[in-house]
Amino acid sequence: MEKGLHERDLVGLQDFILLEDYQNETAFVDNLKKRFQANLIYTYIGQVLVEVNPYKELPIYSEDDIMQYTRKHFFEVPPHVFAISENAYRSLTEENRGQCILISGESGSGKTEASKRVLQYIAAASGHISTVEGVKDKLLQSNPLLEAFGNAKTNRNDNSSRFGKYMDVQFNFAGEPEGGNILNYLLEKSRVIHQSGGERNFHIFYQLLAGGDDNLLKELQLKRNLDTFYYLTDGDNGNVIGINDADNFRTIQKAMTVIEISPKEQSEIFEIVASILHMGNVGFTEEEGKAKILKPESVRAVSKLLGCEESMLSAALTHRTIEARGELVTSPLSRESAIYARDALAKAVYDRLFSWLVSRINQSLHPENTSRKNNVMGILDIYGFEIFQKNSFEQFCINFCNEKLQQLFIELTLKSEQEEYLREGIEWVPVTYFDNKVICNLIEEKHKGIISIMDEECLRPGETTDLTFLNKMNDRLGDHPHYVCHEFASTAVQKTLGRDDFRLVHYAGDVTYNVNGFLDKNNDLLFRDLKEIMSRTKNSITLKCFPAEEYLDKRRPNTAVTQFRNSLNNLMEILMCKEPSYIRCIKPNDLKSADLFDDSLVLHQVKYLGLMENLRVRRAGFAYRRSYEMFLRRYKCLSKQTWPNYKGPAKDGVQILANELGYGAEDYRMGKTKIFIRFPKTLFDTEDAFQLK
Ligand code: ADP
Ligand code: MG
Repeated sequence: MEKGLHERDLVGLQDFILLEDYQNETAFVDNLKKRFQANLIYTYIGQVLVEVNPYKELPIYSEDDIMQYTRKHFFEVPPHVFAISENAYRSLTEENRGQCILISGESGSGKTEASKRVLQYIAAASGHISTVEGVKDKLLQSNPLLEAFGNAKTNRNDNSSRFGKYMDVQFNFAGEPEGGNILNYLLEKSRVIHQSGGERNFHIFYQLLAGGDDNLLKELQLKRNLDTFYYLTDGDNGNVIGINDADNFRTIQKAMTVIEISPKEQSEIFEIVASILHMGNVGFTEEEGKAKILKPESVRAVSKLLGCEESMLSAALTHRTIEARGELVTSPLSRESAIYARDALAKAVYDRLFSWLVSRINQSLHPENTSRKNNVMGILDIYGFEIFQKNSFEQFCINFCNEKLQQLFIELTLKSEQEEYLREGIEWVPVTYFDNKVICNLIEEKHKGIISIMDEECLRPGETTDLTFLNKMNDRLGDHPHYVCHEFASTAVQKTLGRDDFRLVHYAGDVTYNVNGFLDKNNDLLFRDLKEIMSRTKNSITLKCFPAEEYLDKRRPNTAVTQFRNSLNNLMEILMCKEPSYIRCIKPNDLKSADLFDDSLVLHQVKYLGLMENLRVRRAGFAYRRSYEMFLRRYKCLSKQTWPNYKGPAKDGVQILANELGYGAEDYRMGKTKIFIRFPKTLFDTEDAFQLK
């Protein structure tokens, strides 16, 4: 064992299991702080890895570091994202158990960086044979590309992922990556048309304008000056320190080439990006209640870039065709509706371009001959729980997602823990924990839940408003223990809750949602005329994104929330049959500072990540377990009776060791195939001595 590696991690407790007062939140946060200040950003709760974002580059991710973790057992080495990755990788390749690594935490806490480290590790740990190098390259290069289109500067994170991502890496018999597949969730497309103060639009717009060469920009009819684009003028247009848009543009051009996106496709992608900028510049005036286009040159630019008839695009931007009793009726739009239609088009085009890009990457990542299904490692990097001053439809979806992930955690970890004791024939006292199923049901139960009510209201356009939706919820859900509304609340609670608000008591805390905009966002309406014109473009990507069948189809498309729920349930099914590892990311402060540890901010995250409960459950049971064979192999040197070779049954050998280590009756249990140790401190101490020899 390398001395350096271990010695540099002797500050604080490496594992919260060892915390004397395991219900003491202050002690918990103190331990994180102590370690953070010593640049030790990783700590375990049993097998859960807790990471505090260091906000500075630490020299702990080199090739050498990877070597230190390769083929080492979890408890042999200091906590690290590489240890988690190694553990998952070995279970996958040696025991054929499908894995998933679930990364959670709030925006800016380090989830995406952690997911990249996992990928870095498995790319490095697997063999270096030429046939898989290409796949690894593609896997690694898919990141900068998706980040260019799906990330943006926000006030919380300069490189904030504005979409959820699940990536499957598939391995061949030899344990080398042979392919992959990405699923994307709920891109924050409203950012295309509007950004809050201090924030930016998606990176790609700035990258193209800063990094595209003169010829390209001329073809796209773009000026480098950001102020000329309405969709870029809302938020922060300044350069972001630490982000070089021009360099990044070259990076993504390279990435596209690695992923085998053809030069023609690349041009088409940039034509779409440029067309969105021009779309934003199309303005409207109003004459006799009818919208008139103010900047025809912008419409012309869009139609040229996407390849469609200018007059048809102008008409589609200012009119709306509705099918009523089998007849098509076209009527002019007001200025306000035309702006709405234009923005809806810009959002839809961008959103679909993003999804197309994901499917295009997948196409390039798909292995020639898909082998066994089991050999897959999934990495989930998805938005954490959000509680803002003002919470809307987006927060509702995100928090619903987190409720579902908590359900998964309960199923996979808490329940499976109890099942393992049962299987091994071990007596123990079951721990109680809060089962959030009741909240999931409140949201998604058929015919009764919030999603059903929302969809019901969306089915009756013209008759419903956000307030009728709210009233309906209040009527039907008003007495639900996890639903709070103004109408039925006590006077004290009413003071904290507006008349157009509702509050959900989530497992992680109370969140007040403002109902304004819910129905509109859920309907996510794009007028038929615009779908039609997009389906007639010459750009092969927009053509794929807007198939003609869609505008010809008379059935209503699924609402946004229903699509999201379906994709979440699909994700749950994928994850449910895998062995999970957890990485919980914590943000030390709101200032992106490397020197500041804000105790109360951290405590807040510890609470809603459920870390105290995690620890409680871990402590109530037996924190450490190993098969008899493995335990014996590792510790046989601790007793003369078992060293160098123990001839009898492994279980007997382990019993001898347990006696020698001085374990009392309450300290451990002997199961059918494994030893369970309640409080593995003595073992770790022995191990420390052992390792530092
Ligand atoms: P999230 O995905 O949770 O929103 P990110 O992974 O994008 O957060 O991290 C935000 C920023 O924090 C990164 O851009 C980087 O500057 C910093 N950061 C995160 N994790 C690390 C790390 N392990 N080492 C150094 N810096 C980090
Ligand atoms: Mg992220």
